[in-house]
Amino acid sequence: MKNIAILGSTGSIGRQTIEVVEQHRDKFSIIALSARSNAQLLIEQARRLEPQYVVITNGNYTLVKEALHPLEIQVLKGQDALQQIVALQQVDIVVTAVVGFSGLLPTIEAIKHGKDIALANKETLVVAGEIITTLAREHGVKILPVDSEHSAIFQCLMGEDPSWIEKIYLTASGGPFRGMSREQLKHIKKEQALKHPNWSMGSKITIDSATLMNKGLEAIEARWLFDLRPEQIDIIVHPQSIIHSLVQFIDGSIKAQMGLPDMRLPIQVALSYPERIPASFPRFNFRDYPDLTFEKPDTDVFRCLALALEALNSGGNLPCVLNAANEIAVEAFLQGRIGFLDIAEVVEHTMNKIEFISHPTLEQYLDCDRQARDYSKSLIAKKS
Ligand code: NDP
Ligand code: MG
Repeated sequence: MKNIAILGSTGSIGRQTIEVVEQHRDKFSIIALSARSNAQLLIEQARRLEPQYVVITNGNYTLVKEALHPLEIQVLKGQDALQQIVALQQVDIVVTAVVGFSGLLPTIEAIKHGKDIALANKETLVVAGEIITTLAREHGVKILPVDSEHSAIFQCLMGEDPSWIEKIYLTASGGPFRGMSREQLKHIKKEQALKHPNWSMGSKITIDSATLMNKGLEAIEARWLFDLRPEQIDIIVHPQSIIHSLVQFIDGSIKAQMGLPDMRLPIQVALSYPERIPASFPRFNFRDYPDLTFEKPDTDVFRCLALALEALNSGGNLPCVLNAANEIAVEAFLQGRIGFLDIAEVVEHTMNKIEFISHPTLEQYLDCDRQARDYSKSLIAKKS
């Protein structure tokens, strides 16, 4: 039996993690759940799953506490409570399914307490990949990817020696605006950007997929997860999202992992590792997909991808700055305060502004995240 804590149980990944757990009650048990503000869903989940702890970081704590009073569930509040639940002795694995920088400190705490990480929150590795992977090695902790591309690579590498990797290909759907010009992108509204062709996800990652920032973040994530050099990472647009990513080995052989786009599969792979367990998800049928196609991403139009690749190549605190500026810019876009193309502009100016540090400490990352957020906000204030 694996005992699980889910950070962000009310989100897209969190809810699908619960579906997987409910299919395998003999293998997985939920110890702790957390939400930011969706008290109603958190209460429903807690009543159904009866975890030992629930956390609400920013929402109506009293409502949750009163609703769960008849059950023996401890209700905690605030961001710090996430660090408390990941440290619980009975927890074996932590699913990090919160959005953005907020995942960093709880992930560090979980690793320090020897918990394996099922990592959905890619921003944690983007911000401080070097610190996280070093800590994980020191504490003998496994970081199991939930992101579908990284799960694909992880699965392609089963039974292989890491030194046999020549390069990897991360596949990208291209998002809803594939093939469009910058002129066409100028007047994109948030409703259009929130419609992803193949995946249904939280709003932040959906916008990141539309700008292609998501693929850039994933390149940085892959660099740390699989200990690769930037030049070993290639990105290829594959609009059908059937091949989830590929590994090319030193003899030229390529392995791909395929399947219908369904996040429950990579979530289950991470939870059940090192075993594979049955699942009843719909199966892929070759006859439904006579054409699997591939093309180059357009980094002139999708500037966010170019900026993320620049951050990948430079390393240091640049990915942290990129991430912070992107979080602020995406939020402003979702609030209708800036245009679609402004996202890349805010990120680029912030990257140019913040001082470069080649090997930051955790304190320097925290400081740099704050500086980048303040600066991006000032840029946005001038625009709106
Ligand atoms: P959602 O927005 O759907 O869910 C986020 C979850 O985290 C919710 O439970 C939310 O609570 C909680 N949360 C959000 N912000 C905070 C915060 N600051 N502090 C504490 N809790 C918070 O996101 P997704 O599930 O789509 O994505 C989660 C992570 O997984 C992201 O890093 C994303 O990049 C990654 N990912 C997602 C994929 C997907 O298919 N969705 C695919 C691959 C990676 P509340 O509901 O109360 O707001
Ligand atoms: Mg992905």
